[in-house]
Amino acid sequence: MSALRFSGPVLPDGEVREVYVVDGRITYERPAGLAGAESAGEGWIVPGLVDAHNHLGLEDGGAVDEAEIERTAIADRDNGVLLTRDCGSPADTRWVHEREDLPRLIRCGRHIARTRRYLRNYGVEVEPDGLLDTVTEQALDGDGWVKLVGDWISREEGDLTPSFPADAVTAAIEAAHAQGAKVTAHCFGEASISPLLDAGIDCIEHGTGLTAAHLEQMVARGVALVPTVLQTSKFPEFVSAARDKFPTYSATMESLYAGRREVLMNAYDAGVALYVGSDGGGSARHGVLHEEILAMAAMGLPNEYVLGAASWRGRSWLGWNPGLDEGDPADFVVYPRNPVEDLSVLAEPSRVVLRGKVVA
Ligand SMILES: [Zn+2]
Repeated sequence: MSALRFSGPVLPDGEVREVYVVDGRITYERPAGLAGAESAGEGWIVPGLVDAHNHLGLEDGGAVDEAEIERTAIADRDNGVLLTRDCGSPADTRWVHEREDLPRLIRCGRHIARTRRYLRNYGVEVEPDGLLDTVTEQALDGDGWVKLVGDWISREEGDLTPSFPADAVTAAIEAAHAQGAKVTAHCFGEASISPLLDAGIDCIEHGTGLTAAHLEQMVARGVALVPTVLQTSKFPEFVSAARDKFPTYSATMESLYAGRREVLMNAYDAGVALYVGSDGGGSARHGVLHEEILAMAAMGLPNEYVLGAASWRGRSWLGWNPGLDEGDPADFVVYPRNPVEDLSVLAEPSRVVLRGKVVA
């Protein structure tokens, strides 16, 4: 029997413990024959991080090949991310499930967008009358989540516009739920959100247009928010590229950018469940979840709240063991300092343990 020993304060409660890993699982009972065995790592032990909004298999131009998917999944993993919720990828990444050395993955399938109203080569593009069938297909194809593009610029209207009418969205979300899949949606603006919440959506991505009434509804219904602060910090870039051609859109994005911190803090104060997403893939890099954690904390959220969102609470939300209890899968990260006191240590994990193996 091979066993590994780690020691240090185990978050979230911070109790100092000897943690043993046997057959991929945690045990606090010292396995026979391990007395005096060398420690495999000492430090602050944190349940594996969760990237709640990531795009494995996607870059600027669309899908990438398996070598690139492997490279980026390892970049995320070595950053401490051991569970990823993929929020839409044009590449078929289901093979990642078979790879013991790559993070656990929950796939959304492909983005579902309105025709010619999203980034080219990213999603499945449909008109409202095709939405229900497409959502059903993607619900059957994914790992229990479906991703809608809730709003995007309409070139005809020259502004950020809901992708689909309310009745189409309502039927689509009902169809996804009937397949046992949850639904999340990319929403920058305000107008797309009410129909989604009324239809029972499970999560909102970005959410810069959320009003106080929306937040109240989200709390009442347990709808999560993944704010992707690194991504929304790029709104000024989107605006400068579009200002001449689409002045109304630019003004909308400027106003959302100006209000984004207030919206985030209002969501926190209202009690909306927030999770942490790097939005890695597309135009963003992989392996930077720690930067998103730091960016959320810099907006004013407490360190412990953000770390919990990126670890034990995020894991629980996605159906995994939140902490490191006896018998749990051994997915954890060891840091040389207490990340609750100093989040910057998240950039330098000393050990990454996935499925009971030291992978970094
Ligand atoms: Zn995204």
